[in-house]
Amino acid sequence: MRFVCNEYDDKGNLIPNSGCGEIDHITFDGYDFGDRQLEQVMFKASIEDGKVVVNTVDDWSKNSYLKGLNKKHWLKEAKEHQADLDVATCPNCGNDVDAQTME
Ligand SMILES: [Zn+2]
Repeated sequence: MRFVCNEYDDKGNLIPNSGCGEIDHITFDGYDFGDRQLEQVMFKASIEDGKVVVNTVDDWSKNSYLKGLNKKHWLKEAKEHQADLDVATCPNCGNDVDAQTME
């Protein structure tokens, strides 16, 4: 399984060899599930040992704002949110990408 950054034509068809290709993670905004508490907190989903792993883009232990939040709770919420998410962001080019993995 992998995350892929592709561009789509006007009809929604994938354009072969477009975009960044395979990317090691996707990013998504915490505001969508954490509202103001997670405004401007960016999360990432990567693949480790065949599973999707969700974490914050910033190191939780080094970020004074994140340290004040319930990490266990919000990472669980983020994981559930990612599982239902359609569109995420490519960390390389900033374009919209499929939030789910491809085989
Ligand atoms: Zn990209």
